[in-house]
Amino acid sequence: MITTASELRERFPHMFAGTRFELPPGWLGIFAILCEQVNRELSEVERQQFRWIQVKEKFGMFRGYHEGVTNKTLIYVETMVNQMESLSVNTCQVCGQPGHKRVEGGCVRTSCNKCLEIED
Ligand SMILES: [Zn+2]
Repeated sequence: MITTASELRERFPHMFAGTRFELPPGWLGIFAILCEQVNRELSEVERQQFRWIQVKEKFGMFRGYHEGVTNKTLIYVETMVNQMESLSVNTCQVCGQPGHKRVEGGCVRTSCNKCLEIED
């Protein structure tokens, strides 16, 4: 199982060429699954072309920007990215346990009760 960003980069070197990797640690697990799904769907040619431009958290939700695929593959990748967005708002961005969105002082993040206590 992939648990660090460097493991992910090693597993899919082409996907992370020049990527702005700003993903919170708690989402690495679900993002690794997304990368596996995308990789499976890509053709040999697409595997050389597809890359993540940026992956990050915004307003407590996963955001992933990518390039290199078109048509059917693009629709598939977008569907998978949307699923990851839905999953991220229910996954603690610190530890990966079930969580939900919290708004504090104009700052939105997704966390579980335990991580919320630690950070307060
Ligand atoms: Zn947590």
